[in-house]
Amino acid sequence: MSKQAVLDSLDANRQANFDRLLEFLRFETISAQSQHRGDMQACADWLVRLFTTAGVLARAGNDDARTTVLVYGHYDVQPVGDEKLWQSPPFEPTIRDGRIVARGAADDKGQIFTHVVATLAWINAARTLPVRVIFLIEGEEEIGSPNLGTFVQRHADELACDYVVLSDTAKLDADTPALTVSTRGLLYKQLTIAGPSKDLHSGLYGGAVGNPLNTLAKILASLVDKKGRVTIPGFYDNVQTPDVHQREALARIAPNDDNMANALGCPALAGEEGYTTIERIGVRPSLDVNGIIGGYTGEGSSTIIPARASAKVSMRLVEGQQPDAISQAFDKAVAAACPPSVRLSIETSAACEAYATRADTPGAQAALAAMAAAYDAQPALLYEGATLPILPLFRRVLRADSLMMGYCMRDCNAHSPNEFFHVSDFEAGCRASALFLAELADRVR
Ligand SMILES: [Zn+2]
Repeated sequence: MSKQAVLDSLDANRQANFDRLLEFLRFETISAQSQHRGDMQACADWLVRLFTTAGVLARAGNDDARTTVLVYGHYDVQPVGDEKLWQSPPFEPTIRDGRIVARGAADDKGQIFTHVVATLAWINAARTLPVRVIFLIEGEEEIGSPNLGTFVQRHADELACDYVVLSDTAKLDADTPALTVSTRGLLYKQLTIAGPSKDLHSGLYGGAVGNPLNTLAKILASLVDKKGRVTIPGFYDNVQTPDVHQREALARIAPNDDNMANALGCPALAGEEGYTTIERIGVRPSLDVNGIIGGYTGEGSSTIIPARASAKVSMRLVEGQQPDAISQAFDKAVAAACPPSVRLSIETSAACEAYATRADTPGAQAALAAMAAAYDAQPALLYEGATLPILPLFRRVLRADSLMMGYCMRDCNAHSPNEFFHVSDFEAGCRASALFLAELADRVR
C-alpha cells in the first residue's frame, strides 16, 4: 500500500471527484420538509450506488483483525430559509471566489464526501485499505437523529470499531485545520408559571395577586449571579477548572474580545468571572434564557396581570456534569424560588451529556499527523461550545472515541444563506482523510 499512489490518484481525479461532489450537492435533501422525501431516498440510493460501483458495499477491507474506523456523517441539510438572500440557487452549486456555494456544501455533504473520495481513492490506487472502514451516513441529523440511537444499538456488532471519524466541525482559521476534542452537553427546560385563572385588571388587583411574569422574571434573574456564575446548588460540583497547560493552549488560539464583540454587534462581551472568553465557551458550563412567553405584547398598552407566563432555558454542560443530576438540581432550585402565590410546572425537552477525548490517543495522533501533512500546517485542538449528541452515543454503545477532523471555515454560513466550502479545503480534506487511514494503520499495528 502506497500513500503516494493514493495522493497521486486524488490529483489525477481532481475534476471527477469535484464533479461528483457537485452531483451530491444537487439533491434537495431537506429532512425537515416532507415534500423532499423523494429527494432523500434518491440521494441515499445515489450514495449506495457510488459504493457498490466501487466494488464495495458501505463496508470495505476484509481482515477482521485489523483496526476499524467508522466514518459518520449526514447527507440531509437544513432548510434554505429566505431564497432571496442566496446569491445563487441553494441546490445549484456555484463556484465563486474559490468557494463552492450550496446548501450542504460544508454541513455536511462537502465534508463527509472527503472521506468517501479518500476511501475510493485507496481502493482505486492501492486496491486495498490500510484499515477497515465502515460508513454510516444518515439523513436525519438536522432533525435531531430520531432513529440513530436505536439503529446503532441494533447494529452494534456490525458497527463495532476502534474509532469514529467525523468531519462536521470547523477549522480554527483559514490556514489551520483542527481536531475538536470536546463538545458541551445540553439541558433544555421550559418553565410555566400559572397565577389567576384568567388575565386580571391590574388596577383592581395589582399589588394583591402574584403576577406570573414578575415571578418568572425574578426566578430567571436568580439563576445567574453578578459574577456570571450559575446559582443552582451543585451545578459546578464535578466541573474541573482548566489546568495551566489547557489554559495556555486555549490562550494561544483565543479570539480578541473587542473584535469578537464588534463582529457580534455587542457593546462588550460578558461571562463567568475569572475565565477568558474561549474558556467560557469551550470548557465552562453556561445557562441562557432562550425565550419568554406571556402577557400583553400587542400594540399600545393593556393593563393586565397575566394569567400565566413561561420561559425556555438552555444549559450547556461540560465534562463531569451529569444531565440527570443537573436537571433535578435545576427543578429543585426553581421550585425553591417559586412563591406559594403561583403554580409552577417544568418540562425537560433535551438532556445530553458533554463529550471529551484526549489528544494523545493513537487515533487523535493519526488525525493530527494526517491534517498536518495535508494542510502543511500544525492543526489546532478545539473545545467546541455546541452539542453533538451522537458522540456520547457512540462512546456508550460502541465504546469508541470520536475524532472530529474539521476542514470547513467556522463562518461557512452553515444553516444560513450562501453556505460555502472552499475548493482548496475540499481537496486538502480529501488528502487528510486519505492519509488518516494510513497514519492510523501505522500507529495501531
Ligand atoms: Zn452537520
